[in-house]
Amino acid sequence: MRGSKALVPTEPLKIDRQARRKRRAISFLVSAMNRSNRTDHIRITSHPEPHGKTRYPIHWGAPSARERGPVIGTVSRQGDRNAIGSHGGSYALYRALAVSSGALDPIRRPDLTNTHPAVTIPQVAQWSEPGRIVSLDPWGHLVADVFKTQIAEGVDIRPTIAITKARLDLNEMQNAIVHGRLKVDGDLVHANGSIAVSKIAIDPVWYLPGIAHRFGCSETTLRHTLFEQTAGMFPELVTRPDLHVFLPPIGGTTIYMFGDVEKLSDSTTKITCRVHDECNGSDVFGSDICTCRPYLIHGIEECARAAQQGGLGIIVYNRKEGRALGEVTKFLVYNARKRQEGGDAASAYFERTECVAGVQDARFQQLMPDALHWLGLRRIDRLVSMSDMKYDALVGQGIAVVERVPLPDELVPADAHVEMAAKKAAGYYSPELPQDDSAASVGRSLDKY
Ligand SMILES: [Zn+2]
Repeated sequence: MRGSKALVPTEPLKIDRQARRKRRAISFLVSAMNRSNRTDHIRITSHPEPHGKTRYPIHWGAPSARERGPVIGTVSRQGDRNAIGSHGGSYALYRALAVSSGALDPIRRPDLTNTHPAVTIPQVAQWSEPGRIVSLDPWGHLVADVFKTQIAEGVDIRPTIAITKARLDLNEMQNAIVHGRLKVDGDLVHANGSIAVSKIAIDPVWYLPGIAHRFGCSETTLRHTLFEQTAGMFPELVTRPDLHVFLPPIGGTTIYMFGDVEKLSDSTTKITCRVHDECNGSDVFGSDICTCRPYLIHGIEECARAAQQGGLGIIVYNRKEGRALGEVTKFLVYNARKRQEGGDAASAYFERTECVAGVQDARFQQLMPDALHWLGLRRIDRLVSMSDMKYDALVGQGIAVVERVPLPDELVPADAHVEMAAKKAAGYYSPELPQDDSAASVGRSLDKY
C-alpha cells in the first residue's frame, strides 16, 4: 500500500531476551521525586501480581460490558488498573499541568450524574465479533450505568465515549438552502439554516493483540516499538505483558450523525458517509492549499440531504493532522514543495513529504473502520471520499461501498490542484478517465501569498 512501510515481525527468541533485559533495567528505576498525592516516592512502573491475577480482568470481545469488564486507566488507585496509559488521550498532559499548578485535585473522580448518552446507539454483533473492533471500547459510553456499583464503591472507571446533540450553523449550508439543494424542514434543517445533529466523541482504547494483527506484526514487536518511540513513556508496555489494553496519548474521533440514529438498526437504511482526517489549516482557517474543508463541507451537505431523503448521514472526523505526521511536519513540507526546483508540482508531491517525514502518510487507515463497525455498518451506500486507502480499508474489513462520491471540480481551491492531481495520479478515485496531469500542475510559490 502506498505510504505504508510493512512492519516486519522480529525474530521471537531475540525479542524475549530483549524484553527480559528491559524489564530488569526498568525495575531498578524507582527513584524519589517530588511529593505526589499519596507518597514521596514515584512508582516508575508496575509488574504482574505474583499469582497472575488482576482485580478487574478484561475479556476483550466478550458479548456484554459486564463480561468484558471495565477498562480502568486510573492514576489514583494503582491496584485497580487494568490498562496501560491513562484516560484523556493527549489531554492527559494538560491534566498533569492542572495538577502541577494546584488547580486540580489529583485523586478527584468525575461526577457522571446526567452525562449519559443523548441518543441510543444500538448494540450490534460487531461489538463482540472477534477482531472486529480493536481501537475503541464499544461500551465506552455506557460505563456510568453498567458499572455504577463499582463506581459507587470508589473504582475510578471513566467513559471513553460521550454522545450529545448539536446544531451546525455553517454559511455553506445556508447557501445550499438558497440554491435549493437543501430544504428547510423545521426538524433536521431549521429555518435559520442550522442543521440538527447527534455528535459522538470517542477516545482511543487499543487492544494491543488486535492492533498488532491489523499491522501484521507480533504484539511484542508492537509493544517494544510503542515503548521505544515514546522514549519509554509507558514502561508497562514492557513490564506488564498481562495487560493488553493501552490508552494511547493521541487524539480521538468525532462522529456527526445526520438523521434518526435509531435507523442504524435497519439494514435497509441508505447510508451516506465521509471519513475525514483532520486538517486544521483548511478545515478551520480555509487555507487553500488542499481540498480538506471543501470536501468536508461537501460531505456535510451530502449527509444532510441523505437524512432528508430518509437515510442517515455520518461524518467521521479523525484527529490525524497532516496525515498523522503533525502540523509542523506539514508546514515544513509546504515550504519544501514551494521552494523546490521548478516550484510546487504534483509530480513531486508525495516525494517532498517522504523527504521530510520518512513516510508519505502515517494515517494507516487500518484502524479507521472501527468507528463504523461500532455503528453496525456493513454497507455504505455513498462514500464521500476519493481516497483509495480509505476505500481499501473499509472494503478489506467487510464494509461494502456501493458508490463513491468525488469532490466536484468547482470546489477544488486555487492552490489545491497540485494535491488533487498528485492524488489522482497515485490512485485516488476519479469518475473521469484516468489521465496523468500531475506533471502539468504547478502551485503558487512562497512569494505569491
Ligand atoms: Zn488539508
